[in-house]
Parts: sequence; structure tokens; C-alpha cells
Amino acid sequence: MISGISVSKGIALGKALLFKKQKIKINQINIFKHEINKEIQNFYFGRNKTIEQLKQIKQINKNKIDKDKENIFNSHIMILDDYEFEKEIINLIKKQLISADYAVEIIINKQIETIKKIKNDYLKERINDLNDIKNRLLKNILKLNIIDLNFIKNEVIIVSKDLTPSEIAQINLNKVLGFIIELGGVTSHTTIIAKSLELPTIINVYNITNKIKNNDYIILDSINNKIYINPNINIINSIKKEKKKYINEKKKLQKIKNLKTITLDGRKISLLSNICNPKDINIFKQYGSEGIGLYRTEFLFMNRNVLPNENEQYKSYKYIVKKLKNKPINIRIIDIGGDKNVSYLNIPKEENPFLGWRAIRMLIDCKKILYTQIRAILLSSYYGNIKIIFPMVTSIEEIKYLKYELNNIKKILTIDKKKFNKKILIGVMIETPASALIIKDIIKEIDFISIGTNDLTQYTFAVDRNNKLVSHLYNSLSPQILKLIKKIIYYTHKQNKYVSICGELASDENATLLLLGMGLDEFSMNTNYIPYIKNIIIKNKFSDAKKIAEIALKKQTIKELINYLKKK
Ligand code: PEP
Ligand code: MG
Repeated sequence: MISGISVSKGIALGKALLFKKQKIKINQINIFKHEINKEIQNFYFGRNKTIEQLKQIKQINKNKIDKDKENIFNSHIMILDDYEFEKEIINLIKKQLISADYAVEIIINKQIETIKKIKNDYLKERINDLNDIKNRLLKNILKLNIIDLNFIKNEVIIVSKDLTPSEIAQINLNKVLGFIIELGGVTSHTTIIAKSLELPTIINVYNITNKIKNNDYIILDSINNKIYINPNINIINSIKKEKKKYINEKKKLQKIKNLKTITLDGRKISLLSNICNPKDINIFKQYGSEGIGLYRTEFLFMNRNVLPNENEQYKSYKYIVKKLKNKPINIRIIDIGGDKNVSYLNIPKEENPFLGWRAIRMLIDCKKILYTQIRAILLSSYYGNIKIIFPMVTSIEEIKYLKYELNNIKKILTIDKKKFNKKILIGVMIETPASALIIKDIIKEIDFISIGTNDLTQYTFAVDRNNKLVSHLYNSLSPQILKLIKKIIYYTHKQNKYVSICGELASDENATLLLLGMGLDEFSMNTNYIPYIKNIIIKNKFSDAKKIAEIALKKQTIKELINYLKKK
């Protein structure tokens, strides 16, 4: 029995799929003349296998993939099938006496370098295609095992050292029962997505990728933070019973989905959802969500080859507005950078990506991307209750600048007689200590505040939210963060404006009464956590929660604070 940090509740039983990222090691040593034929055969073997795999992937997903994706597969097959490409590789093997893998590496890299010199957006897309083809082809030539997250055939529990948000976004989720991850942090974006998918997940599991083998039978019990590898039948049966109990309790909670979130003494609270994807709204009714408190739009930009254009973004936002009618929809301007990489943007490698070119910092330098997104948001705002949130602000200058750009775009749209909500509300994420410290001035510039406790904790404690080595120092529910939240709520309410929390702290049941008592107006979280938080709020009085907050705010250590809150 093994444990880690349980981050998404549930119980899964099934076979393990070990997702190991393989490093491709190219054979750069010269071959002998008599080995030429063998290397040519290696190339043909790898190429044919790659084409076969791509055709199979296309076939399996015939009804699931859209035209764009199908065209990408077709173009990959065409490149591989190209006679000139084949001739170049074979000539290189023969002339330079090198291995098939090395020849492929040289030829495709040469093509990439040529394209890089041409200033043409369409051709730039081809670089990603070529890199994809190269990786798959090399793996097949070297006879490495390829795990296609996109095309998992049987139900599995994914076991991985690490999983990036863009990898997780590729996975065929119909077949995934849960995740066990060796690294990661409680608020890493991979964890956040796993939570939103309602898949049981345990992270920070020491050395797990060396303990579990492919096809091992696994029990992943993230309610009790336990992982069993090939357990006996008695354990399997008892966990199956527990799973049934858990599902029944969850069902019971659904009965409160249509109740308003009001305390026993009449304070109304808004409970909203964090989403990464338009289809996340499909479960709103089931859990009684009142709208979107945070739409992490950067996920719209991942796992593709080019930026989504204005029309594509507009359609995606409009789809949500139409579905949610007048419910609030807080669209956050893209927060790319940190642990969220978008490959085709070719962001330079940074020493400390969380302290680097992230969110609005990148957008202020890449204005076209900013304008396109703001235009799309404004145009869709005509149809419902859309608000804009700017992430990662640290100063008044940044806010003034962003407002200036927003107003310019509004002026252009007005001249062009486009319809949009001229009075769209603007909020900022308070997720850096710098912005929390100047909240008194920030709040005069905007309409509402959304506290990003995930980053606020990371930057206040100087702890990378994804780093396992220092994860014990990362605590959103701590005297330090509470002092900042108190200050933020105080100055925001003084201006008669409202405060939401959209970091993971909003779904922490230990913190609910405390945050309620501190005066928080809105909680935004993964949709499936809403019933748990609602259940606490509707069973308590605001006046009691205020008393709890008063005592909790006096606690000096995390331990004292948690011990006190757990008793409430
Ligand atoms: C946060 O930082 O708390 C937040 C909600 O934003 P993200 O997790 O996307 O960084
Ligand atoms: Mg953040």
C-alpha cells in the first residue's frame, strides 16, 4: 500500500498504463558499408510503420476528429510518402555512412531550418508538423514503444512521473479511470484539470513509476489516499463496497443542487465554476453551478498548430453565452507561460518560467494576440453576462495600460457599428503579493476582484507550486495568505465592490466557514465540488462564521489554524 497527496476524490480499480516519456537517443556513430542495406531497411520499416499508425489513428477516430485534425494526419502521411524525402534519406545513409535515425534527424532538421528563415505564418505551422513526424518516425526506426495518449483503447489508470497540461489535454478521457503522478503540486494545472475531470488522482507518490508495471492491477483510492498494486480479492471486494458508498453519498448531495446558497441567517453567496473547456459546462445543471467564475481560456490555445483566430474564439465564447443565458461568465485573458506552454508560440526557455514571461506580461509584448482575444470577448459579450479578468497583474500601470487598450478596441468596434456590451465589467486576478499590497488603489480602477490563491501562495511563500521538494511549504490555508485575503476583502468592500476566490482554496471544505465569515462574496471552483461547499454554507449562520473567522485569524501557525478549523 502506497500513498501520496490525494488531490481529487474518488476510487478507481483497473489496469495501469505507465506513461514514460522516452528520450530519443540518435546513433551518431558511422556505420560500415555492409550495414548500409540494414539501415535502409530500418528506414523503410520505421516509415511504413509510421504511415500505418497514422492511418489507424485516423480510422479509429473517424467520427471523433474534426476536419482540421484529419487534414493534419493526411499531410503527415503525404510528407512521409514523398519520393524526394525517401531519396534524400537513402542517399545520405549511403554517402555519409550513417544510421537511418541520424539521416532522418539531419534531413528533417534541415527542412525545419529552411522554413524558419521564411517569414510566413502558414509555413511556421509546418515546423510543428515536421517535429511531430520526426519524433514518431525516429521512435519507430529505433523500435521504441509509442504511447498515444490520444488513442488509449482500453480503460486504464495512468501512472506517470509527470504530466503536462497539454499532455493531459490530449488524452482520450473516455478510457481513463484515474491518475497517479510521481511529481506535481496540489495546485499545478495538471492537478486542476484532473480534478475538473472528476477523476481520482494522487500526486507526489514517491518512485511510483518504478514500482508499477504496465498492466498491473491497481486500486486508486484517493478518498483514503491509498494505492494498492495487485491486491488480493478481499481488498478488492472491500474497496468496491466503499466505492458504492461514496457514489451513494455523492448522489445524496445532488438533492441540494437546486437550492439557493443562503446561510441560515440569510447571507447569499455565489457558487460558480472554474472551466478549461466549453464542454465543461455540460455538468453545471447536475451540480447546481451558477455560472463561470473563471474560464482558463489558454486551454483553447493548446494542442493545435496555430493561434485560434478572432472568429474561432468568438464562436467558442458565444457558444457558452448562449448555453448559459444570463449566468455570469468570467473570461480570463490567456495565462500562457509558467507550467502552461503553447508549443507553436516558441516561447524561449526560461530559468524560472513562473517568474517570467507569463500571462499579461507576454501579451503586452504580443499585442496582436491580446487584441484578437479582447475583440472576440467583446463581440460575444453582446449575447449575455460576460466579464473580463486580467491575470498576473502587479501594478497600476499594467491595469491602466490594459484598460487603455480595451477602450481603444471598444472605440474601433463602435466606429465599425459592431454590437457589444459597452459596460462590460473588468476584474483582475489578485495573485501576486505586489497586487495584494496595492489593493486599495487597484480596486478604484476596476469592478471586481478574483483572488487567485494558487499563485498568491506560490509567490508569497516563494515556493514553486509544482515543485515536490518544497511542497510542504506551500499552504494556501495559512496565516500569511489569510492576512492578504483579509486586506483584499476589506478594501474591495469599502468601494462597494465584490470579491471572489477562484484558487483551489475555494473548494477546501476546511476553509469554507472561515472564508464565508471573512466576507467572501463568491467561491469559484471545479464544478463537482460545489455541492460539498454549498452543503456547509446552507447549514450554518453567517454570524457564527464571522466568529470563527475572528478566532482563526488570530492563529499564528498553520498547524494551530488547521486544528482549530477541523474542529468546527
Ligand atoms: C490561481 O492562481 O489561483 C488561479 C486561479 O489561476 P491559475 O491556477 O490558473 O494560475
Ligand atoms: Mg493563477
